[in-house]
Amino acid sequence: MPKIRQTLSRQRKHQLIKKELAAYELSINESKKTDNEFSLSISQSAPIVENVHIQDNFNNGFDRVTFSPPHAPSPPITGSLQLEEHFRIDEHNTTFLEGGGFSKAEASLAGELRVWISDQNISKQSVNSLLKILRKHGHSDELPQDYRALLQTPRCTSDKIDTTNGGYYVHFGLAETLKRELKKASDTFPKKIDMYINCDGLSVASSSRSEMWPILVSICFNGKRAGPAAVGIHWGTSKPTSPHKYLEKFISELKTVLNNGLHSNGSVCNVNLKAVVCDTLGRSFVTCTKGHSAYFGCTKCTEKGEWCVNHVVLPNLNAPLRSDESFRMKLQPEHHSDVSPLEALPINMVTQNALDYMHLVCLGVMKRMVEEWMDRTNGVRLNSTSKKLIEQRILQLRSCIPSEFSRKPRPLAYFRIYKATEFRLFLLYTGPVILKGILDDNLYKNFLTLSIAIRILCEPELCIALNDYANSLLHTFVENYIVLYGLKSMTFNIHNLIHIADDVKNMGCLDSFSCFCFENFLKTLKAKIKTAANPLHQVVNRLYEEFSLPPQTAEYKCFPIVHRTNQDQIKKIDFEAFSITAKSPDRCFMSANNDIMLSERVYELNGEIFIDGKMITVNEPLFKEPCISSTFHVYLNQISTAVNFEKLPLTSVKKKCLELPHSTDDFFVSVPLIHH
Ligand SMILES: [Zn+2]
Repeated sequence: MPKIRQTLSRQRKHQLIKKELAAYELSINESKKTDNEFSLSISQSAPIVENVHIQDNFNNGFDRVTFSPPHAPSPPITGSLQLEEHFRIDEHNTTFLEGGGFSKAEASLAGELRVWISDQNISKQSVNSLLKILRKHGHSDELPQDYRALLQTPRCTSDKIDTTNGGYYVHFGLAETLKRELKKASDTFPKKIDMYINCDGLSVASSSRSEMWPILVSICFNGKRAGPAAVGIHWGTSKPTSPHKYLEKFISELKTVLNNGLHSNGSVCNVNLKAVVCDTLGRSFVTCTKGHSAYFGCTKCTEKGEWCVNHVVLPNLNAPLRSDESFRMKLQPEHHSDVSPLEALPINMVTQNALDYMHLVCLGVMKRMVEEWMDRTNGVRLNSTSKKLIEQRILQLRSCIPSEFSRKPRPLAYFRIYKATEFRLFLLYTGPVILKGILDDNLYKNFLTLSIAIRILCEPELCIALNDYANSLLHTFVENYIVLYGLKSMTFNIHNLIHIADDVKNMGCLDSFSCFCFENFLKTLKAKIKTAANPLHQVVNRLYEEFSLPPQTAEYKCFPIVHRTNQDQIKKIDFEAFSITAKSPDRCFMSANNDIMLSERVYELNGEIFIDGKMITVNEPLFKEPCISSTFHVYLNQISTAVNFEKLPLTSVKKKCLELPHSTDDFFVSVPLIHH
């Protein structure tokens, strides 16, 4: 009778293991001679795994050595079998993954499925149905039965969530979040990054008061952007009761990161806190200052508001500006409700608390102006004929909106449910064409003043060079606004227009610190909530599933990218910020010589791509006040003056333009695309 292994001496165990290993290798060599396919899989996986186990266990003591009998080699060890070793059965008889399984399966069906499910936000019911079908059709070895095993859903979420601050809070960790986002965006660890912070409320369901307050960060480095990502999330029936409690863990970590930088494999990345970007509610909450309806609500100047028709207005444009020192010393105590938790950071509490143009200009000022034209009984309301004309023009424009815009313009009657991007489209591109000749001249000129000022502040090449000019345009707009729309219209948003040029001077063009990217992230966060029960648990589970995904290599695109039809014809060219085709509405562009061009054919000749089309030879400015529109390459173009041009190389394409119809048949309006 062979002795039981545990009763053998250490030396005897060693000898036995060696003997078994030799026999095992011999059996593999023999099988190689008879079955090439089988030996290939064995030699690639099994021996390495077994050897490692044996060696590891030599060091750690024999008693825990476990492996298959060497004289009877196991079948080829595949990713799926390794995967099975990580499963365990819980009390509900459901399989879960322990630790970091899937190491070999990441590039497999299971790994790719996990990435796809996360990207597409597929529901757990759909995943389970899909797994059932795939397992039925020959993938039972590779795939588990349950979505939780596939996606590595945490077994217990409750231990990650604290009950605090009038609700529940989960913290994901700042340094980990930043490193994770950096890994997604770049394969090298940068030396320096700029960081933006956003805190905003997110209504979870329209039928309840349940809301989330995520703390989001986004990063900018070497001309690239990464994030946004959630560092922590509060969930409750209202906003967190205390900003101090809400930001406590985040601020503590942020101080360390700002002082010591981010560390990875011996490299250090310096983190620069660039700005806190919030809407008015979020900003007054985290800075512990008065809100937008208060007398001392302006975050940039010490203007005291006035009471006018049931609300506070801020008509004075020359009040002394706040400074970081005056803020921290609370020189105007009426402005503060408490000491802000952000004051513990090395941050300029005034200039680095940015005014976000998505909320301020698009959803604030632009919406207010449309409301004045459409609904208000204030003397500037449009008559029904003008409204009909506007609707007709908007309908005409719908087919002329290029592919860079996700939404086609809707009638202005729907302005109350317009998204910020629709107001941006109206303000920067379509509004000057739609309103021309319909709106009263002074109102139209006033609207153009705002449109041009925001266009300058959105353009990275112009926002600093023409900053003073944009600032003077905004002051003119606000001064005229009081005259045109009345004192009662001088709301917080209108007043704050006089401060945004300074923010641009400090932080770059408006799009570099706007809430657009944060709002998009909040939408994806909300989409993770599938049922009304425990929304925070659902979001946390989905985020941890994403965290456990294999690292995605940063996607590098080399522009321009050529898209071809099945017949090998070129149908589209993707430049970094826009696309050009040979058809409307994606055919109009501005050449390096600032000529307005209409592409008619894109083709390849001797390995080089060329564009043939027409060049407009006669055009005139669309408007001349408050400045001549040709300064910003906004033209009224006469189509009949177009001449053919041939073989224009792609390097000659400078900017894409919107090609908007004009009431006169032979003309169209070209407006350069500026937002990215
Ligand atoms: Zn102010």
